[in-house]
Amino acid sequence: MNVILSKEETYGDIAPVRLNSNGVTAFVSITRGCDNMCTFCVVPFTRGRERSRDPQSILEEINDLVTKGFKEITLLGQNVDSYLWYGGGLKKDFAKATPMAQATAVDFAQLLNQVAISYPNLRVRFATSNPQDISDDVLHAISKHRNICNYIHLPVQSGSDRILKEMNRYILERNT
Ligand code: SF4
Repeated sequence: MNVILSKEETYGDIAPVRLNSNGVTAFVSITRGCDNMCTFCVVPFTRGRERSRDPQSILEEINDLVTKGFKEITLLGQNVDSYLWYGGGLKKDFAKATPMAQATAVDFAQLLNQVAISYPNLRVRFATSNPQDISDDVLHAISKHRNICNYIHLPVQSGSDRILKEMNRYILERNT
C-alpha cells in the first residue's frame, strides 16, 4: 500500500469513502497543500504547495452526495479563499499560466456561486478562511444565496507583533 501523499496531485478524481458518516453533512476537499509557510508548520512540506481541484470534479462529488441524500456540505481547504483553478498546477505558478488560462480561471467566490446555484436545496459552508485572502466577492456570494450559511470560520490570533512576525503570520494593520 502506498501511503505517501503526493505534493502535486489533487486527488480530484478519487471518490472518498466516508466512514461513520451521518448521511446529512459532508466535507468536500477543494484545495490541497498550503503556501503560507508559517514557520512552525509542516503542511507545505508534507502536503505540498497549494493547488486547487477542478471545479467539475468538485461539482460531481457534490452531485453524488446530493443523490445520496446529504443536506449540507462544507467546502474544505487549508485556505479556501485562496482557491484558484486555472487548469491545474500549483497556485504559485499562476503568473506563468497562459493568458487564456488566467482569463478563464475560477476563484473561490465563483466556485461558491456555482455550487449555490447548482444545488439550491443544499446548505453550503466552507472552512477555513484566512483574513488576508477572503474577498468582497465571497461576502457578496454569501449575501446573494440563501443556501450559503451566514458563517465564516475565521482564525484570528492576537499576540506580540515580533513573535507573530517570527511565526510568519499575517499581521493586520492597526487603526489605533
Ligand atoms: S496557514 Fe495553516 S496550514 Fe498553512 S502554513 Fe500556516 S499553519 Fe500551516
